[in-house]
Amino acid sequence: MTDRRQFLQAGLLAAGALSLPAMRAGAASAPGARVVSTWDFGVPANQAAWPVLARGGTALDAVETGARWAESELCNPTVGHCGNPDRDGVLTLDASIMDGDGRCGSVAALEDILHPISVARRVMEKTPHVMLVGEGAQQFAIAEGFEKKRLLTPQAEKAWRDWLKTAEYKPEINAERRGQPGNKDNHDTIGMLAIDAQGRLAGACTTSGMAWKMHGRVGDSPIIGAGLYVDNEVGAATASGVGEEMIRNAASFLVVELMRQGRSPMDACREAIDRVVRKRPEASKNLQVCFLALNKHGEVGAFALHRGFVYAVCDAGKREDLRESGSVYTTTQS
Ligand code: ASP
Repeated sequence: MTDRRQFLQAGLLAAGALSLPAMRAGAASAPGARVVSTWDFGVPANQAAWPVLARGGTALDAVETGARWAESELCNPTVGHCGNPDRDGVLTLDASIMDGDGRCGSVAALEDILHPISVARRVMEKTPHVMLVGEGAQQFAIAEGFEKKRLLTPQAEKAWRDWLKTAEYKPEINAERRGQPGNKDNHDTIGMLAIDAQGRLAGACTTSGMAWKMHGRVGDSPIIGAGLYVDNEVGAATASGVGEEMIRNAASFLVVELMRQGRSPMDACREAIDRVVRKRPEASKNLQVCFLALNKHGEVGAFALHRGFVYAVCDAGKREDLRESGSVYTTTQS
């Protein structure tokens, strides 16, 4: 198992080994292509997605590839196979995928399947539905050839047993963790948005959700319009943080609609954050909400409630750009 920092280094080295010819080819074949992702693990996830865009592939294939990387190669407590479980000790995964033409699919509360993002894509492509949950989602995955395997790691199980000593559900305000040993790392999602050389947009979002959530709780990530929304006419948006706030505000849809009205990606994210604050001013002081947006021109913006939300941008010119968003509150929880 590898932590995210080792992967970051490995990813960058691997990219370096491949990068000169690939970058030249990428620059030639995908001039406007770009992929952006939430958090610091977005850097290696973007590196995994980029080759798809560089060879002229679709934004949809790129975001699925990047999200799959996060689900299986990254080992952290908030995404994929190393995720922390719910308060009953059960690891449940949520994911969604959306193409800029309006097609979308998602799965929620999925157990023991390594790649929820690919199951979400099969829901989109092979069923008349948008969302499958729990046992039904797992049955569908198995019928589609996905292997069922126990995912809960010994570390996650130990973290859960430690948590049981207090059994207090109190999400920390997550911020970029380097240099912040106090952070409990109990939530974070990878939301990935891409535009390809043909100007098509797509997005993917995958997570283990809030650690120690109630069994059966579904967050924003698999809910189209809350954790993810994409429209080729305008742009795309994704979210990370306490998902109940995104659901209350149909937040990713809101960000896209604000861009439709002419706002820049950053202004749209900031306005959506203002909406969260106006609705629950007191609660907003103690929880994190973050939005990331990409418009159809390839412009990127992000905004968060609390300081420390970082996002990764990758295109032919800049292969490894990590940026910090603006925020309403400038302090992070200690
Ligand atoms: N949005 C995710 C959820 O509520 C968690 C996170 O992004 O931190 O499930």
